[in-house]
Amino acid sequence: MHAELIAIGTLAEIDTERDHLAKEISALEAARKQAAAAEATASTELEQARAALGALVGIEQEANVRLSEHRHRQEQAKRALEGAFGSDAAQRQLDQSRALADQDETAILDSMMQQDGARLAVKAAVAALESARAARAAIDARAPVEIAALRTRLAAADVRRVPALAALTKDLQFRYDSVYKKKKTAVAHVVDGSCTACQMSVAAQHLSDLRRGSSTDPCRGCGRWLLT
Ligand SMILES: [Zn+2]
Repeated sequence: MHAELIAIGTLAEIDTERDHLAKEISALEAARKQAAAAEATASTELEQARAALGALVGIEQEANVRLSEHRHRQEQAKRALEGAFGSDAAQRQLDQSRALADQDETAILDSMMQQDGARLAVKAAVAALESARAARAAIDARAPVEIAALRTRLAAADVRRVPALAALTKDLQFRYDSVYKKKKTAVAHVVDGSCTACQMSVAAQHLSDLRRGSSTDPCRGCGRWLLT
């Protein structure tokens, strides 16, 4: 291979490593953010489940207060009817308070049935929050250590990149940066006569020139330098 291609290949290898390390760092940072967001969501869902249960308990309590009032009025009406002054008004009061008491009893039963479901929902939300907290604690414990190790490797790659870049002429450095930015990787390999990046076949003469080191011509399909 041509010396220029060997130098480009060395630089490209370092850049691939740097990109890989940067991606791993981003993934860990994203995982931490995601775990924190999942915990916040689980916490909100638990609050909502508790509020829903609280509302149902409130409905039951209010219905109970009304129910005892209706029963009190029922007793009053019964006494009035049993006494000497039994009247239509007392009968109406008895009928009305019985009907209202029925409504409240139904409301209490409905609420109690719904509370069973709401309690299960609270229990599930507590479990979900616990598991979200554990997941967050786990990623928070390991990510900073792993990120620090990756940053150390990244810094070392940055150091190695300086002489690797300096080995190229200014013109070649400029072209390398341009291809690297556009294509993510500036080089491709030739396998079975084809470019591994774009699959275009490399002419036999071109391949032979690359191997003899008499050519640095890039792939005609994708413009990357070809390593053989
Ligand atoms: Zn190609």
